[in-house]
Amino acid sequence: MVLLLWVGRVPEWSNGADCKSAIRGFESHPDLSFLKQDHGQAIRGPFLPSPSGWTLNAAAADMQPTSPNASPGMLAVRTAALDLYESLYPKGGSRVAAYAPGRVNIIGEHIDYTGGFVMPMAIGRGTVCVASLGEGGVARVASAQTPGNVVEFSLAGLSPGVVTGWGAYIAGVVKGCLDQRPLPPGLNLSFASDLPVGAGLSSSAALEVSAALAVDAILGVDRPRVDVARLCRRAERDYAGVPCGIMDQYIACMAEAEHALFIDCVSEQHRLVRIPPEVTFVIADSGKRHELTAGEYADRRASCERALDAIRKARDPYRHLRHCTFADLGVPGIDPVDRKRARHSIGECARVLAAEQAFGSRRWAQAGDLMRQSHASLRDDYEVSCDELNTLADRLNAMPGVHGARLTGAGFGGCVVALVHESLAAEIAEELRSSGASPMVVVSRPAGAATVLPG
Ligand code: ADP
Ligand code: MG
Repeated sequence: MVLLLWVGRVPEWSNGADCKSAIRGFESHPDLSFLKQDHGQAIRGPFLPSPSGWTLNAAAADMQPTSPNASPGMLAVRTAALDLYESLYPKGGSRVAAYAPGRVNIIGEHIDYTGGFVMPMAIGRGTVCVASLGEGGVARVASAQTPGNVVEFSLAGLSPGVVTGWGAYIAGVVKGCLDQRPLPPGLNLSFASDLPVGAGLSSSAALEVSAALAVDAILGVDRPRVDVARLCRRAERDYAGVPCGIMDQYIACMAEAEHALFIDCVSEQHRLVRIPPEVTFVIADSGKRHELTAGEYADRRASCERALDAIRKARDPYRHLRHCTFADLGVPGIDPVDRKRARHSIGECARVLAAEQAFGSRRWAQAGDLMRQSHASLRDDYEVSCDELNTLADRLNAMPGVHGARLTGAGFGGCVVALVHESLAAEIAEELRSSGASPMVVVSRPAGAATVLPG
């Protein structure tokens, strides 16, 4: 083991040469790989004071209790998952239930996979997985949201493509949970959820994380929360074919009630952003289901990567888009569409940093303004909005009590999130419902993380 101690103040104007020379020669050491990955942020990232300090996630997560008070909503979903379980699987034997929340992303959209910052919170809706050991060397998997469709797959020889459809998410999670461990005799799993599926509230991560916690619990595995998030992200990426970032799985695993998380998607660490009681969030479904294919996701990601490559060649090789400015987009060799995509990414990182400060100092008008700017950038530069989302966001932005509204999630349909004054939230939600502007409106303050449910 090599211990490298380097103490030194980095001037804000530094181009990082001091840091690079300090670590030169050690870069290839495996224990120091994080330096290569993240030193750009360490040396040149925004030197903002942290309102509550960084939470070192793995250590903190290991200490999280696994059975806080279950809310009535969780228990109703658990009942639905148990009913399904009992209708399909043999009685007797031990079983466990785990709950994972959906999330709404307050700001920081489409930048988790380009190494940005995001600010999501868990909501008071989620998914429950009931699990027990099964038999025959197979997993049997059923969901109340896909009635009549019991997916069955062999526990041996799991690899991407073997299971398709919604069962692919579970196959990926099961593979991750069983990695390097003896195969159990079989697994029986049932799911239920009160999250809308495909509406941008991350039903997919709730599905994965509830499955991972339930399978780990039935096998007696105690895994750090951040590793659960990584395992689930791998499942979504490799088995469901969605090249997603870490945000959705991370917030489901690490959320804290009354707080949003400011997540650094490179270091995979977070700090808490307290959401004081004077504000809350109205989440309104546009009614349009997003049709973001893996291809469109991948296209935008590739655009950002090409733009960053050109900037790295012209400026320096250690940057992420978070370290770039709009001026960097003037370097030669960036295609106009790629430039727009990267402009969204650069601007959105700056907006998340500003939003954290605005929330911390209760500057709601500024926080709302940043959310509106985020929507405009997703609409005009990233081109992931649609008429239904624009209409709903415009309508919310014109209502009294709304500080700011924007599309949330992948886009092309799904939901709009609005930061609103708490005392007017019920009225705003009622107006959207009664006028038919939205088929589903939820008012939510930040909820807690995934948990193994008691009993
Ligand atoms: P979002 O995560 O925003 O809801 P995604 O497209 O990422 O939308 O994920 C939706 C997919 O996740 C569904 O098409 C389905 O395959 C799977 N899924 C999510 N929740 C469930 C559930 N409760 N039962 C079965 N499949 C689910
Ligand atoms: Mg999803």
